[in-house]
Amino acid sequence: MIANRGEIAIRVMKTAKKMGISTVAVYSEADADALHVQMADEAYCIGPAPSKDSYLNQAKIIEVAKLTQTDGIHPGYGFLSENASFAKLVEDNGIRFIGPSPHSISIMGSKLDAKAAVSGYDIPMVPGTEGAVESSEIGKKVAKEIGYPVLIKASAGGGGKGMRLVDNEIEFEEQFNRAKSEARSSFGNDEVFVEKYITSPRHIEIQVLTDNHGNGIYLFERDCSIQRRHQKVVEEAPSGKISEEIRNAMGLDALKVASSCDYSGAGTVEFIMDDKGNYFFLEMNTRLQVEHPVTEMITGVDLVEQQIKIARGEKLSIKQEDLKINGHSIELRVYAENAKEGFKPSIGTLDKYAIPSGDGVRVDHGFSQGHEIPIYYDPMIAKLVVWAETRREAITKMIQAISEYKIEGVETTLEFGSFVLNHEEFKSAAYDTKFVEKYFNDFLDSDKNSEALKIAALISGVHWNKHIQKV
Ligand code: ADP
Repeated sequence: MIANRGEIAIRVMKTAKKMGISTVAVYSEADADALHVQMADEAYCIGPAPSKDSYLNQAKIIEVAKLTQTDGIHPGYGFLSENASFAKLVEDNGIRFIGPSPHSISIMGSKLDAKAAVSGYDIPMVPGTEGAVESSEIGKKVAKEIGYPVLIKASAGGGGKGMRLVDNEIEFEEQFNRAKSEARSSFGNDEVFVEKYITSPRHIEIQVLTDNHGNGIYLFERDCSIQRRHQKVVEEAPSGKISEEIRNAMGLDALKVASSCDYSGAGTVEFIMDDKGNYFFLEMNTRLQVEHPVTEMITGVDLVEQQIKIARGEKLSIKQEDLKINGHSIELRVYAENAKEGFKPSIGTLDKYAIPSGDGVRVDHGFSQGHEIPIYYDPMIAKLVVWAETRREAITKMIQAISEYKIEGVETTLEFGSFVLNHEEFKSAAYDTKFVEKYFNDFLDSDKNSEALKIAALISGVHWNKHIQKV
């Protein structure tokens, strides 16, 4: 059973089918016509559109699992994928949870517990407080020691939420109180801590696979530094900037992080890297990531297949020395969003929908023409993924694929993707997480520029014609 919807439900079903496993889909009333429902061998409605009444309805999901004699539940990402009590409920009902143990999920679900767990493993950490900060006075003291700017972060935070950047002491108290109340209302837990803000940071994450027999491998890195609101939009593997030596050190550190919580399955260890190449542990995501395809493209490993095999208790059959980076892969998240209006969701019907295709082009999606993007869920339409021998060729291929992707009826992030891929800073791989902030106005102006270019081209065309006629 796939306790999820959209592209990830379809992605998991593809591998299940390949492995000869029959599939059960669950869906909300808003998704009755969805592709994941059509693709599954069996499908069951689990409630009304709002997530809390359907995709987060644990009792209903278990009821369907029992009815269908499901023997394994894949949670995808989002929804119940990092919910330790759901993982436990699944296991208590004699069903395999295709993911790590409730113990690993719960440690890594709290940024402070995660920091404590890895503290004995000699992993580089961002300077900051070890535990929760009780008062703004204590926080200010720490901030003074480590030096501004600092980040106040919610221990239970996720998805880029619950983070406050503080530039100086005057702002500290107000931001501290805001962070606490935001954390309380969003996560029901107001524990916050203080961390040094790394300037010019890159977000580099390592994919790991570990089994229940003590074996673990790392499948290299993904660079996910192109972010808006601390959320990823463009990802690539390998990173265009890190050396073989740093890559291997990060891989080994990622495996230590996995050991610190007795991890089993596919997981991602996130690091932040400064402009000198120093890296620090941020957190571990205890599930399949949205951006996992870029790793699959450069390693040839089907991560969902490995997740299923590990959940069955099998030993990892891939050894570290079997793995090597083959070529380069880039992913663009195609969101139903109006990038020009600050990436505001743009909900509607896909009046026209045609995907690019060809060698090294992969589209993971959950919609087709005529489908509506429901307002209730994440507005991601698809992930456009390309692979080529070199980074340069991958960039060219992505630009071409974006131009072939035709979507009408909603605004999308395709044009923004094209702006990023054509940007010199992206091409030279010198970008950091500030990219969107730095170049957003250029993106807004790019329309005008392309209008100006069109006019210039037209004028020169007229000129040329006249010239030809004269000759
Ligand atoms: P979440 O769980 O909300 O995703 P993370 O801790 O993974 O939070 O951080 C998300 C993003 O926020 C990172 O990819 C990075 O862009 C930024 N960030 C987090 N910590 C720092 C830091 N100490 N310095 C600079 N940027 C940071």
